[in-house]
Amino acid sequence: MSIRTVVWGENVHEQKNKVVAGIYPKGMHTCIADALNTDPAIKATTATLQEPEHGLPEQRLAETDVLIWWGHAAHGDVDDKIVERVAEHVWSGMGLLVLHSGHFAKIFKRLMGTPCNLTWREAGERERLWLTSRNHPIAAGLPDHFELENEEMYGEPFGIPEPMETVFVSWFQGGEVFRSGVTYRRGAGNVFYFRPGHETYPTYHDANVQTVLRNAVKWAANPAARIKNPTDAPNVPVETALEPITERGPRLHQDGEEGYR
Ligand code: ZN
Repeated sequence: MSIRTVVWGENVHEQKNKVVAGIYPKGMHTCIADALNTDPAIKATTATLQEPEHGLPEQRLAETDVLIWWGHAAHGDVDDKIVERVAEHVWSGMGLLVLHSGHFAKIFKRLMGTPCNLTWREAGERERLWLTSRNHPIAAGLPDHFELENEEMYGEPFGIPEPMETVFVSWFQGGEVFRSGVTYRRGAGNVFYFRPGHETYPTYHDANVQTVLRNAVKWAANPAARIKNPTDAPNVPVETALEPITERGPRLHQDGEEGYR
C-alpha cells in the first residue's frame, strides 16, 4: 500500500506575492505533492490553512501516514486545537516532516519544547548541503554534497534539542553553518526537519531537494498500527496489580480516578 501523505501549506505568500506565485503557480504544497507523486510508493494530497479545520479533520489525520508542514507568515493563525490534534497523531505514530520556516510553527515548537530560534538573512546566497550521515535512508541516492544557488541563510545556534540523528549540515556563502536535516522521535512518531525552502526561490523544483523529501516520507512512515489514546494516564488500583500487594500509608487519590492534569 502506498504511503498516504498530506502536504500542508499555509498558502499565504502564493496568494499575495507575485514572485512566489510565479515560482509556485499552484502553490508550494502542490509543487511538493507533485514531486512526491512521481514515486508510486507515495500517494500525496494537499491541505491548506484556509480550509475548514485547516484541512486536517480528525478522520483525515487518522488516515495519514506522513504529514508535511510548510508555514511562515501565518503560524499564529493556526488553531491551537488543530496543533494539539496533530501532536497527538504524531505521538500515536504519524510521521511529520517540518520544512524551512516551519521551525517556528506551533506544532514544531510544541514537539521540540525549545525556542527553535536561529539567525537568518535573505540575500539569495549559495547554500551547500553536506551529508553527515551517508548511509541514512533520507540521504539515499544523493551526492556527498549539493548546492542551491539561491537560498535564505539560516545559521547556528539553532535552538533545537539535540537531534536523534543529523543527516545534513549546510554551509552558506556568508560563512554561517546550520544543522539543516535533523531527526527526532516523539512518542511513536518519526519527525524530520529539513531547512531549505524559502518561498521566493525555486527550491522545491530542485531534483536533490525532491529526492530528500521522497526519502524522508519513506523514512517517517511508521508501518505499525497507530497507538490509540496516546495521552491516557490510567490509575491502576491495588486489586488489579499484577502481583498481590498490600496498601500502605496515607493516600490522596481514590481508586480509578482520573488524577490531575
Ligand atoms: Zn524563508
